[in-house]
Amino acid sequence: MIGKLRERFLAITYLTHNTICAILFLVERSRNMKKPVTLSQAIAYFADSERAFDYAKFLRWPDGKVNCPRCGSESNSFVQTRKLWFCNGCKKQFTVKVGTIFEDSPMGLDKWMTAVWMICNCKNGISSYEIHRGLGITQKSAWFMLHRIREAMKDGSVVKMGGPVEVDETYVGGRIKNMHRSRVREKFKGLPTAGNSPHTKAAVMGMRDRETRMVRARVIPTANRETLQNMILENVEKKSTVYTDQWRGYENLAARDFVHETVNHMQEYVRGQVHTQGIENFWSLLKRGLKGTYVAVEPFHLDRYVSEQVFRFNNRATKDNPLTDEDRFTLAMSQIVGRRLTYTQLTGQGAD
Ligand SMILES: [Zn+2]
Repeated sequence: MIGKLRERFLAITYLTHNTICAILFLVERSRNMKKPVTLSQAIAYFADSERAFDYAKFLRWPDGKVNCPRCGSESNSFVQTRKLWFCNGCKKQFTVKVGTIFEDSPMGLDKWMTAVWMICNCKNGISSYEIHRGLGITQKSAWFMLHRIREAMKDGSVVKMGGPVEVDETYVGGRIKNMHRSRVREKFKGLPTAGNSPHTKAAVMGMRDRETRMVRARVIPTANRETLQNMILENVEKKSTVYTDQWRGYENLAARDFVHETVNHMQEYVRGQVHTQGIENFWSLLKRGLKGTYVAVEPFHLDRYVSEQVFRFNNRATKDNPLTDEDRFTLAMSQIVGRRLTYTQLTGQGAD
């Protein structure tokens, strides 16, 4: 039915390019009605390679103007049988995968899309073993796919946070290293490892804008004053209110033109508006995900795991923002262009 409609529309040759685009958009919308809602529907939906291709093409070139990822030329011819374009500008071929996280992957779009769907929507994340079993691919391929998808989920926002911002750091994994002893005592108060843990832990710094309820988090080399305050300068507008605990890494923030309010975690956790409970809620989610799904996270890969959790947290369904699984999927898919990660990049720096 839709195929016929499309044919008829394209046959009307006097239509201008823009009109054709508008109509194709409507056809696309009508197709949207049948879009998947659940994981099993998503698997069935993207198993149709034609549909997976159309979907990827639509996300990549929403206005229908296919341009070459190498030279930008819009002049090309499409080879239907091989699902690729021949560029008249640089005289090279390109596929819908070139320049995206899917580039150079022998894996079909159907598998990629199902994996994206799974990782966006499983609340505590998904392991490469689950992808390996679910999609019938090797665990190694699944592991690589997941890391590429996480790269696409990274928040590339350069807009500074302006609302009151909660700032905190946390420590994940292995052994405690690069942390001042007094900080270890404070952070691990009451825990059996407090003070003299033989473990090294990676530090993650997080910021939560109370106005937009958005979180940003990143692995940091060490939680010292320079690192913490530079991150705040990079991500928070001057004159904003910043809530932290009393770690001396945050000392003298007021001198850098922020309204700095602190809560002393030795005595209290909340003093009116002054607390860091929002970002701490995010920490507990992050840790639950890491504990439940991932057996071991090498510090080198931790940053991407953090991005994945930030993506799901910032795009979770709320009363004001009732996002669905499909919305999260579309959002991640729309970020795939230009986030290519090679196998060497992934494995070359201290990975297994
Ligand atoms: Zn070209």
